Amino acid sequence: MAFTLPALPWPMEALEPHIDATTMVIHHDKHHGAYVANLNKALEGNPLADKPIEAILADLSAVPEAIRAAVRNNGGGHFNHSLFWKLLSPVGGGRPSGSLATAMDRELGGFDTVKAELIKAGLGRFGSGWAWLSLGKDGKLLISSTANQDSPISEGQKPLLGIDVWEHAYYLKYQNRRADYLEAIFKVLDWKVVAARYEEVKG
Ligand code: MN
Repeated sequence: MAFTLPALPWPMEALEPHIDATTMVIHHDKHHGAYVANLNKALEGNPLADKPIEAILADLSAVPEAIRAAVRNNGGGHFNHSLFWKLLSPVGGGRPSGSLATAMDRELGGFDTVKAELIKAGLGRFGSGWAWLSLGKDGKLLISSTANQDSPISEGQKPLLGIDVWEHAYYLKYQNRRADYLEAIFKVLDWKVVAARYEEVKG
């Protein structure tokens, strides 16, 4: 069984003007496509290829050392992007409600603080990586950032929301203005999806 590139849930131009169609085509078809192809290549003939990508990333020590870096980078790229696309929507924006909003108030000082901290995490990531809102091992929300395609799953966390801050995610439209891109992302974030993930993993 091979890993496959998931289709986008909306047309390439759906997130305009916040995320332009050309960026989406290259980001999904070329970048995410390459992560999937390279993951399949690395795991060819290995029984790990039959496991869900989440299970592989949760235990990278079980991956043979010769292919571990390839699986970490490309498997992380596959999982992170598959999540990212689901979090974006032309009818996104606004703020969460329900138990996710309550947990943000209780554990992180509320949505405005969460947004500010996610932007800070994205801006503070030197080079390529991601900003994350996850459920930590203690069952509480936390904000973090990872380098490259590393996933919070490999840290024992449950990622609820990831924001790609690689230059390939924004450079065509925003060039060096990562802060403007991060503000734009919040206009297309689908908090219903994040809230549903929170309900699913909080136990
Ligand atoms: Mn990306």
